Amino acid sequence: MKIAMIGTGYVGLVSGVCFSDFGHDVICVDKDPRKISMLEAGEVPIYEPGLDALMARNVEAGRLTFTGDLKAAVDGADAVFIAVGTPTRRGDGHADLSYVMAAAEEIAAAMTGYTVVVTKSTVPVGTNRAVRQTIRKARPEAEFDVASNPEFLREGAAIDDFMRPDRVVVGVTSERASAVMAEIYRPLFLREFPILMTDLETAEMIKYAANAFLATKITFINEIARLCEKVGADVKEVARGMGLDGRIGNKFLHAGPGYGGSCFPKDTQALARIGQDNACPMQITETVIKVNEEIKRRMIDKIVDLCDGTVNGKSIAVLGVTFKPNTDDMREAPALTIVPALIGAGARVRVVDPQGRREGEHLLPGVHWNDDAYKAAQNADCVVILTEWNEFRALDLKKLARKMATPRMADLRNIYTARDARRAGFSGYVSVGRPGHG
Ligand code: NAD
Repeated sequence: MKIAMIGTGYVGLVSGVCFSDFGHDVICVDKDPRKISMLEAGEVPIYEPGLDALMARNVEAGRLTFTGDLKAAVDGADAVFIAVGTPTRRGDGHADLSYVMAAAEEIAAAMTGYTVVVTKSTVPVGTNRAVRQTIRKARPEAEFDVASNPEFLREGAAIDDFMRPDRVVVGVTSERASAVMAEIYRPLFLREFPILMTDLETAEMIKYAANAFLATKITFINEIARLCEKVGADVKEVARGMGLDGRIGNKFLHAGPGYGGSCFPKDTQALARIGQDNACPMQITETVIKVNEEIKRRMIDKIVDLCDGTVNGKSIAVLGVTFKPNTDDMREAPALTIVPALIGAGARVRVVDPQGRREGEHLLPGVHWNDDAYKAAQNADCVVILTEWNEFRALDLKKLARKMATPRMADLRNIYTARDARRAGFSGYVSVGRPGHG
């Protein structure tokens, strides 16, 4: 199959590289010339473990190329995937479809022969039909179908998620498109990963329903964590006790500083808007959005309380700013709420993150960057663990405490325990949802 992938972000690049590894002939397109020149030079513009090696292997095999020229890439393609961003539209919470629709118009002008235009971006119900209308209007004579193929990969584990998915969802309206999509995903069919063929609307809905459900699960345990602090229960044990129930499952039950990232915040907002537009309010999702904001704010209060009621003039070391480990993505990271609030309250903030600096430097003005947790903690009044990178999971707590002016720790990922901290010489320790130090 000849595939054109429009957009080389976290989803487009990983999908394009993996499709080429399936044996397809893939051209990845981006309108950002910086990204294309990096890719052409063999460099990966994002941090995603394992992507550089897989990309190099397929480029070398001659199955994977990059271009800024969408027309040339789409010409003769069997399938064109749209993997551009669908951020929240300013002001109203709707998904901004301008990039998707602009790509559809460009594709319409460039298609030759029968083409399946596949939306991989997360888009509200009805968007694939709108894409079809746009293309039909521009090219009434063209032979094409649209397909919805939402992506479920997680940043940081994206290659494994793509190659060994829990399921692949494909929304189609014709046998012909279904056959093309089946051929593209043949290696996964052969290995018996579940492939769901649905209609367009169902495929679009599955993605939002899945993300909103996961955001709800995280928010639920975060709310339970708060109650645990009040009543003296331990949320880690509570989550374990819940998660061992097969109907609940143990994933997404880790209490923390609130969900962030490039998907959950925007997709919950978009689902809430879709509900409102259809006179069917998504009340649970709307509440989740509100509660998650409160949780992020509550983390600021925790840090301030730990610092004896004020951070003014205090020095705070923040470990981890990306929204989760193993990615450089800072979109909607809790750090973007918490760090500016600390600075606004008069704190001096030092930050360490193994991959977050490139993005973080312009998003977090006024912080000082370090490349080592112990350096950042030098003379600090408080250490805050915001992202559970492996290197922050195995800190020498004694060494850390010795460096600090006042050894206090806000462990917002529940990596350590109050006992660990006390033994290492910390005078103050708080975590999320555990007794005695809420
Ligand atoms: P991204 O912002 O990292 O990448 C989008 C890319 O598309 C950018 O490089 C941009 O330059 C390019 N682009 C935009 N318009 C273009 C055009 N007309 N022609 C060529 N290139 C164009 O976005 P992302 O994180 O990869 O997300 C893409 C979509 O996938 C979104 O809808 C998102 O919700 C969804 N998604 C993301 C994830 C994730 O973990 N990031 C997971 C599942 C689904």
